[in-house]
Amino acid sequence: MRADSPLVLGIETSCDETGVGIVRGGALLSDVVSSSVEAHARFGGVVPEVASRAHLEAMVPTVSRALDQAGVRLRDVDAIAVTAGPGLTSALLVGVADAKAYALAVDKPLYGVNHLAAHVAVDCLEHGPLPEPCIALLVSGGHSSLLLVESVTDDITALGATIDDAAGEAFDKVARLLGMPFPGGPHIDRVARDGDAGAVSFPRGLTGPRDAPYDFSFSGLKTAVARWVETRRRAGQDVPVADVAASFQEAVADVLTAKAVRACRTAGVDTLLIGGGVAANSRLRALADQRCAAVGVRLRVPRASLCTDNGAMAAALGSLLVADDGRQVLIGLLLLAGAEQEESVTATYLGYSPRG
Ligand code: ADP
Ligand code: MG
Repeated sequence: MRADSPLVLGIETSCDETGVGIVRGGALLSDVVSSSVEAHARFGGVVPEVASRAHLEAMVPTVSRALDQAGVRLRDVDAIAVTAGPGLTSALLVGVADAKAYALAVDKPLYGVNHLAAHVAVDCLEHGPLPEPCIALLVSGGHSSLLLVESVTDDITALGATIDDAAGEAFDKVARLLGMPFPGGPHIDRVARDGDAGAVSFPRGLTGPRDAPYDFSFSGLKTAVARWVETRRRAGQDVPVADVAASFQEAVADVLTAKAVRACRTAGVDTLLIGGGVAANSRLRALADQRCAAVGVRLRVPRASLCTDNGAMAAALGSLLVADDGRQVLIGLLLLAGAEQEESVTATYLGYSPRG
């Protein structure tokens, strides 16, 4: 780490985590997350209004803790990066408004960053510079995307995405119908260890020869699990929860890894990066390891705390944007500009430019 590298503070509020991270030249100095996940548990999913109120309350203390842990003061910060989308609008608004206020207070530039690109960029903090091009599989409660990353700061192509539920959402919904608490992903993962993944053959969505090769669909799978469980219950039979969890998890991991590895081979790319909360899934990781090794693709998965939403990811991408002199974007100027200009800057400079 170079002591004279810019100090970048990142703010993330796209969903239910208020994340603040501080990065200097590829080194992570602090990463503080305040999650409102418990406030959503009784609803079985994230409630945007509840999340945005929680962001409002958590923001100032979270920024203070991040500064303390990094041993820096707000006025030492050289740039501020904030997740500008995609995400829950009312939640994003809180982060963007706060980031603008901090940038104005210390008279430093503000960078709006794309959340998906930030999920990719964060891996640099753990594994060093990202080999480009690479394929990124991002799987969380809100997203399931396959991206071709030519350059994480300015050339990312969306190859495919879910056409209905996100992978994490499917884990959460299936967990709920099996009687597990929200968020259900970690519970399914744990229970599935004692189950037989071959017990029930659940459908693999969008894997037919005429289906879009890189899109995902998990809603039919969720319905298939619900029907299977209902049929057993109606017949007065026990539901083998571990077997159902393992079989469901196998269907998700199978489709995600097959499509991701296929994207690597088709694009002639030898690095696959997996991010998002579902990247913590043990079966997904094992199958990705195995399938990548079989075709000579290197697999990069950041540690769990960097996979789920956090502020370090915004700081990591912000830091790369700051370093990328040619594309310096001072969204701070927008503090004085109208909404129309803001929209065009947001669309152009999120470090994400889907080509098709
Ligand atoms: P978001 O906040 O956009 O939902 P996160 O990155 O915070 O995204 O990821 C949360 C999601 O990840 C939830 O849907 C959760 O169930 C899922 N998840 C977390 N750990 C696991 C796991 N071990 N297996 C499967 N899913 C998981
Ligand atoms: Mg989350």
